Amino acid sequence: MTRKVVIVGGGTAGWLTAGVIAARHNSPAENEQGICITLLESPDVANLGVGEGTWPTMRDTLRQIGISEVDFLRTCEVSFKQGSQFIGWQKGEQESYYHPFSAPGGYGSINLAAHWLDRKSEKTFAEAVCPQSAVCDMGLAPKKPQTPEYAYSLNYGYHLNAGKFVELLKRHCVEKLGVDFQLGHVDSVVSTEDGDIEALSLTDGKNIAGDLFVDCTGFNALLIDKHYKVPFVSHKDCLFNDTALVMQAAYADDNSPIASCTKSTAQSSGWIWDIALPTRRGIGHVFSSSHISDEEAEKELMNYVEADPHLAKQQPRPRKISFQPGHRQTFWHKNCVAVGVSAGFVEPLEASALVLIEKSAEYISNNLPQGKPEMVVVAKRFNEIIHRYWVEIIDFLKLHYVLSERKDSQYWLDHSKPESLPQSLNDSLALWNTHVPWVSDTSNRAELFSAASVQYVLYGMGFVTKINNNRYRNWSRDSRIADRLMGDNLGMVEALMASQPKNRDLLNLVSEN
Ligand SMILES: Cc1cc2nc3c(=O)[nH]c(=O)nc-3n(C[C@H](O)[C@H](O)[C@H](O)COP(=O)(O)OP(=O)(O)OC[C@H]3O[C@@H](n4cnc5c(N)ncnc54)[C@H](O)[C@@H]3O)c2cc1C
Repeated sequence: MTRKVVIVGGGTAGWLTAGVIAARHNSPAENEQGICITLLESPDVANLGVGEGTWPTMRDTLRQIGISEVDFLRTCEVSFKQGSQFIGWQKGEQESYYHPFSAPGGYGSINLAAHWLDRKSEKTFAEAVCPQSAVCDMGLAPKKPQTPEYAYSLNYGYHLNAGKFVELLKRHCVEKLGVDFQLGHVDSVVSTEDGDIEALSLTDGKNIAGDLFVDCTGFNALLIDKHYKVPFVSHKDCLFNDTALVMQAAYADDNSPIASCTKSTAQSSGWIWDIALPTRRGIGHVFSSSHISDEEAEKELMNYVEADPHLAKQQPRPRKISFQPGHRQTFWHKNCVAVGVSAGFVEPLEASALVLIEKSAEYISNNLPQGKPEMVVVAKRFNEIIHRYWVEIIDFLKLHYVLSERKDSQYWLDHSKPESLPQSLNDSLALWNTHVPWVSDTSNRAELFSAASVQYVLYGMGFVTKINNNRYRNWSRDSRIADRLMGDNLGMVEALMASQPKNRDLLNLVSEN
């Protein structure tokens, strides 16, 4: 029986995992079976303190954990994120496209992308099939003041203050979900004869025993790497970015607009993210240290900040974070499972780290093993699923680069080299030349990126799929439905323009009431 789960690390990964497991297993009824969750955090190792853009999945995760959305919005400097806008990725000018969180109209029953391609529309794909890019252009919120918690007019995730989010999760887990929190620095591991972890020894002399150990120690990867030496699989040959310069930029004034999406602006050797919170903007330049020096990267970052009239003239110097893009060969080894940055990390282009934590925590919680034989199978399946997610993440991120026409630096030239593409992405691109991505393309039910997401990036970047109408059954009938859906979309844009409050106005209302 898994009676005691020990989570090492009090960053976002540790507390989200604790919350998801405790919300399901630590209820009084189940407590009689003795499931107890301890979270250990080192007083000497700071959290990463970044990770401020989430997917819509976070709404479900927070609801599941039992956190009220209003409390979350008020305490974590939260704003609403409705997707990402990619600026300068295609040509290196100021051209842009959206990857919104809402799917195209009729998604699942009709493939609007095929009909949009057939019409050679003046409108971008996202504009033609979904109202969300227009809503983002206007800085509008995805819900109204009277919309219930976690419900929406348009699908959304969040931008948040990572430090405050950890504080809220910790408070909730300890006070409401009964998680046992201990401050202590893990110094060594006590093993059983068959190589499982029996206990963790702390520098203060204490021993913490457990049945399942979750390694959430960030880049330290204390258990999965330092103890078990599970190999690391580098993806630097495909995704070159390995450094980030991160800053918390002050607004010029308290009423500056709050963007409704993450803005990702391509640079000579990387890209700049821009995440707007009610109180400040989280801005960072993520780049390849093999292609640009820290000084030049900082100059590009400061040029970006200085050109924005909504940002204050004086800003702090950025903080540098270095990382190896890649992940562990396996994630669950013996009675230890790695979640968060200890399991792997690549550039945050599609904010895929927190969602992977949510998925990992959910799997662990749903499959807490009853004994050793079960643990072996659960671990094997977990490794298969998480490995598949990583293949998807790497393919999807690389897709943003490989479709670029930019040739203005070695970085963009290197990204277009065939040897930098994974075979799986090569296969997909060959298919998409004549086949529009669709929901039935994979039998993989546990996928991260939907066909809709692929379509938004593919056609946003100007990729052309050659349409053969004869391959589609009922083309003429569907064409009429497509006309109606694209017309409805125009109507929805108008209605939303009239009904949705500005992001900042809605957030002000929430904080005042
Ligand atoms: C530049 C950058 C931007 C990012 N942006 C996004 C984004 O927009 N969206 C997104 O989804 N993700 C993003 N991420 C990823 C996100 O920040 C992480 O996934 C998230 O913060 C989780 O980190 P963590 O909890 O795994 O590690 P950490 O926050 O580093 O926590 C590690 C914990 O382990 C503890 N610890 C370490 N060693 C010991 C020890 N010996 N004993 C006891 N405790 C120990 C530490 O005290 C700490 O509490 C970004 C990452 C980077 C680098």
